[in-house]
Amino acid sequence: MTIAVAELRVEDKLFLNRYLVDAGGPHIKVRPHEKPSPNLIALTRVCPAKCYELNDKGQVEITADGCMECGTCRVLCEASGEIEWNYPRGGFGVLFKFG
Ligand code: SF4
Repeated sequence: MTIAVAELRVEDKLFLNRYLVDAGGPHIKVRPHEKPSPNLIALTRVCPAKCYELNDKGQVEITADGCMECGTCRVLCEASGEIEWNYPRGGFGVLFKFG
């Protein structure tokens, strides 16, 4: 049975995306911190790819492998210097497929 892409849920469409991970060269970095700011903590909730998490010390960490390059975290935390945001190197990152 073939399912038309238009009938898929957003989550299922996003699952169709492919990523070429730049191992050892993440395009987003979180500045080292002891206690995260409210904006940094907010990233654990607003990132649509769930790239941000709290570690067992209560600090915010990123795993940028599934990043969709939407820029939400950039808007929220780049100006304050809490994160460093760049596009992935050429050939790496997300490859959108109907998502
Ligand atoms: S650019 Fe978007 S998808 Fe990527 S880490 Fe930031 S909020 Fe998440």
